[in-house]
Amino acid sequence: MEQQLKALREAAIAELARVTDLEEAHDLRVKYLGRKGSLTTVLRGLGGLSPEERPRIGQIVNELRDELEDQINQKAADLKKAELNRKIAAERIDVTLPGRRARLGHRHPVTLTVGRIKSIFMRMGFSVAEGSEVETDYYNFELLNMPPDHPARDMQDSFYITPEILLRTHTSPVQARTMQAAGPNAPVRVIVPGKTYRCDYDATHSPMFHQVEGLVIDKGISFADLKGTLDLFAKEMFGSSVRTRFRPSFFPFTEPSAEVDISCVICGGSGCRVCKGSGWLEILGSGMTHPRVLELSGYDPSQVSGFAFGMGVERIAMLVYGIDDLRLFYENDLRFLAQF
Ligand SMILES: [Zn+2]
Repeated sequence: MEQQLKALREAAIAELARVTDLEEAHDLRVKYLGRKGSLTTVLRGLGGLSPEERPRIGQIVNELRDELEDQINQKAADLKKAELNRKIAAERIDVTLPGRRARLGHRHPVTLTVGRIKSIFMRMGFSVAEGSEVETDYYNFELLNMPPDHPARDMQDSFYITPEILLRTHTSPVQARTMQAAGPNAPVRVIVPGKTYRCDYDATHSPMFHQVEGLVIDKGISFADLKGTLDLFAKEMFGSSVRTRFRPSFFPFTEPSAEVDISCVICGGSGCRVCKGSGWLEILGSGMTHPRVLELSGYDPSQVSGFAFGMGVERIAMLVYGIDDLRLFYENDLRFLAQF
């Protein structure tokens, strides 16, 4: 019996020396010390021994069990420690390495351009008004002197929600809303930045685009005020060497009306691909507020006069940044957007 225990101890210790992970240590514990383990089986066999031998052998078995338990525990603890050390070594943090910089977003070029336009006009004493992107036909067309079936409506293919409600085709409905809120004949000096919608999609048109509208009304406002204001705007926006040109045009809500061109920002007026050889670039539409538009919003055209203008923000941004396709603004390509 003693021989048997001695062999069992040697076998167990030899096996323990070969254990390389916690799972093996666990298996070894079950094999020798578990309920059906070798040592437990020996312990059960003690009944067959003589009463003299039983205590002595029992003690040896108990000692062996304690020894093996200690050794397996020790081995398991060593393995755990080694495992931990390996993990620490693998995940070691080098505090001297530079940190990972969090990527900061920034403003979209259209937002930047709206901001610049706003700041130029605010320095001239304009305040900023905003309106709803969903408008009634009445405000979007009728109050701007475009009654139903007016041919000028054809220039603005619209997204109708009902026959009476549509996505605004321009920021101009805010003109009427501002005049009505200010009260009859009260002076107005506002710009209206915002999103507008038309059924258009190509390199220079997007179904959603941005406009900045402007409206000035007061006693004695003349075309000279319009020219001076817009000339100063062009110089602030595109540089002091830029020249402006006012070309006769037609809008239902202004009379007279004028398209405003600036001398080409690329060639300076000598003619290039961007200005199609003309030396001029169109930047906005403008005109003296039509007396009918004043009347429709409760103003008296014999008492006050005014001017209005409207520009496409994408168009301005394309000229300022030298962008040749408007769709780039809305493709969300970071290689493009990160340049601003
Ligand atoms: Zn040019």
